[in-house]
Amino acid sequence: MLNKCCISINAKCNLSCAYCHFYENNNIDMRSMQSLDLNKLLIILHNILTYAQKEHLQCFSVGFAGGGEPLLDWQILESALSAIAKQDTQKQLTFYIITNGILLNERLLESYKKLKPFVKLVISLDGDEITHDTFRLDKQGKGTFKRIMANIALYEELFGAKPDINVSVSRLSLERKAFILDFLLENNFINITFTRLFHCSDKSLEISHNDFLEFVEFFNTQHFVIRNLTAKAQNKCDCIMYGYTCGVGYNNIFYCNDKVYPCMRYVEGDKYIGHYDDTLPTIINNMKPLQKPLSLLQGVCHYEKY
Ligand code: SF4
Repeated sequence: MLNKCCISINAKCNLSCAYCHFYENNNIDMRSMQSLDLNKLLIILHNILTYAQKEHLQCFSVGFAGGGEPLLDWQILESALSAIAKQDTQKQLTFYIITNGILLNERLLESYKKLKPFVKLVISLDGDEITHDTFRLDKQGKGTFKRIMANIALYEELFGAKPDINVSVSRLSLERKAFILDFLLENNFINITFTRLFHCSDKSLEISHNDFLEFVEFFNTQHFVIRNLTAKAQNKCDCIMYGYTCGVGYNNIFYCNDKVYPCMRYVEGDKYIGHYDDTLPTIINNMKPLQKPLSLLQGVCHYEKY
């Protein structure tokens, strides 16, 4: 049952992270990618809501992530989310936005306040300053750690708690896992998602899935709520980074470049299964040929294996 998607609303970013799958990948031409305008985004969200209502879904999760910095188009996002919230009378849709955190300021956070009950802001932060600043650089090649931490403090001041964070895991993270753990504990981060890097231009940064699982397990203390571990415990169908069974062909899609892909890895090679304005039943029909028995997708990346 399709119950989640990610949406890349633009193809622009205000950072130049050294490991970016989209910008540091010779097989993806970000300059030719289409961005969404308000009208297109409303069409997508309306199609999702129509499907969730027709299927009586309790929850359909929509993430704004991958292939661009969503807060660069905050006005579009804010307008679209405010509009769809009014139509979603049964509160069937939940949203999260993964941001690099650079554009967070008091004004933006104030305007986010009214969306907060159904939109989670997740900030990308790779751990302590050395680990973070090795890769997460601005256009001038400067580290972003201090700016992100200052913006996290703003968030905490306004909302009384740390935001959720998304930690990208590279080979350096494995080497520095003790420093990262100390940093996360000292700064009282609670809700964490770990994301394994894939297809970096520098292959030496990539790690195996097993190394990734071992790394995540290292943080399995009572202090943290780790999305990867809760999803695994529930045997969730999702990307195997966040669950146990790859959801390609079943429950997850990715909107990008005015098209729909089985997941974000399929943007490379342009293996799309629909267009942004297709209804969800049409997209579901198009992704059926990709389906493998779920038992063959346990701990297996569909993109890498098939
Ligand atoms: S194909 Fe691979 S990267 Fe895509 S959702 Fe499945 S496990 Fe994740």
